[in-house]
Amino acid sequence: MRKAGRHFLQIPGPSAVPDRILSAIGQQTIDHRGPDFAKVGLRALDGMKSIFRTDEHVFIYPASGTGAWEAALVNTLSPGDRVLMFETGHFAAMWKKLAEKLGLKAEFIEGDWRSGADPEQIEAYLAEDKAHEIKAVCVVHNETSTGSVSPIAEVRKAIDRAGHPALFMVDTISGLASLDYRHDEWGVDVTVSGSQKGLMLPPGLSFNAASAKAMAANKTAKLQRSYWDWADMVGPNKTGYFPYTPGTNLLYGLNEAIDMLHEEGLDNVFARHARHGAAARAAVRKWGLEVLCATQGQESGVLTAVKLPDGHSADAFRATTLKHYDISLGNGLSKVADKVFRIGHLGDFNDLMLIATLAGVEMGLSQASVPHTKGGVQEAMNHLS
Ligand SMILES: *Cc1c(COP(=O)(O)O)cnc(C)c1O
Repeated sequence: MRKAGRHFLQIPGPSAVPDRILSAIGQQTIDHRGPDFAKVGLRALDGMKSIFRTDEHVFIYPASGTGAWEAALVNTLSPGDRVLMFETGHFAAMWKKLAEKLGLKAEFIEGDWRSGADPEQIEAYLAEDKAHEIKAVCVVHNETSTGSVSPIAEVRKAIDRAGHPALFMVDTISGLASLDYRHDEWGVDVTVSGSQKGLMLPPGLSFNAASAKAMAANKTAKLQRSYWDWADMVGPNKTGYFPYTPGTNLLYGLNEAIDMLHEEGLDNVFARHARHGAAARAAVRKWGLEVLCATQGQESGVLTAVKLPDGHSADAFRATTLKHYDISLGNGLSKVADKVFRIGHLGDFNDLMLIATLAGVEMGLSQASVPHTKGGVQEAMNHLS
C-alpha cells in the first residue's frame, strides 16, 4: 500500500539526502579525463581540506567507509606490525577485524561500549612498549554503535606524553561535518571518513586525510596495495584528476554539500548537532529509559542509542515504529543487538524534524507496550525553545 508523506530515515547513516544535493547528483556524467572535469575534481579535493580542517592531502575513493579504513592501514603499515586499537564499540571491533585480515597484529584496550577511548589507558599501554613496536594507534571518533565520542585531542596528547612515535589514525566516518574535527591541530596522521553521514550524500565516497608523516610512511609500508595506493593518486590529484574512474556524480553532490556546510558555517553545524543531541537525551530521560553512553561530556550529537528495559526487544519496537509511523530507527549492533535502538539526528536536520522523530519514538513505545513515562517530546520542546 502506498504510504503518504516522506519516510523518516532516522538511522545514524545513511542520513537523508537534501534536495539540493540530489539535484546536483542528477547532472549529466561527464568525461572524467576531459577538460571540464578538472574543476569538479579540484573543488572536491580542495573543499574537503576545509572540512577536515587540514592543509595536507585528502584522498577521495569511490568506496564505502570500510574501503577508506583499509586504505589508511595498507598505505602506512607492513605485515606483522602491531596496531593499538580501543574497543569503543562495534565499529572499532570491525576496524580491528579488518586489520587482522590484512596481516597486522591488532591489540585491543577493552571498553564497555558506554564511553569513548580513554587517553590515560592509551598512554599507559604505549609507555610499556619501550621498543616502539606499535606502529599505529587507531581510534573511532564518533562510535556510531553506541553514541559515544572519543576525545581525539586528548588521545594525541597521551601519545605525546608517552613519547611514542606511532602513527595516529582516526575514524570519523560518522563524526565529520557533524562534530568539531581538526585533522591538523589535533595532530592526526590519517583521518578516515565517508560520504553518507554528516556529509549528507548517498553512500559511495570515502576519504583519507594524510599527514606528512603518514605520506612518509607510505614510501616504506610493505602491505600489498593497488587500488588504494596513495602514491598513484597524488600526481593526477594535482590537476583535479584521479588514476581511475572517480564517482563523478557523487563528486557533484560532494561539492554541493561542502557549499551548504560553509553557507551555514561549520561551527553552527556543530552547535546544531550538539543541541539536537541534548534535546534527544532530555526526551529519553523523561521516558525513563537509559542512554547507552554513560560518560558525561562524551554523548554524541550525531545519534542517541537508547537501552530498552530488560525483556523488551529493541528490534520488535523498531519494526512497530516502522509499520505504524514510517520511521526507520537504527538497530543495536553485535554486543547490543536487540537491546538498544539508535535515533539518528545528523545531517540536514532541524528542530521540527527532531520533534517529529521523537514523537515517532514516543508513539512507538506506547504501540509496542514498552513501559515509559509520557512527555519526552514535551521535554525536548522545552529544551529547544
Ligand atoms: C558507517 C561507519 C563505518 C562503516 O562505513 P561503511 O560506509 O558502511 O563501510 C565505519 N565506522 C563508523 C564509525 C561508521 O559510522
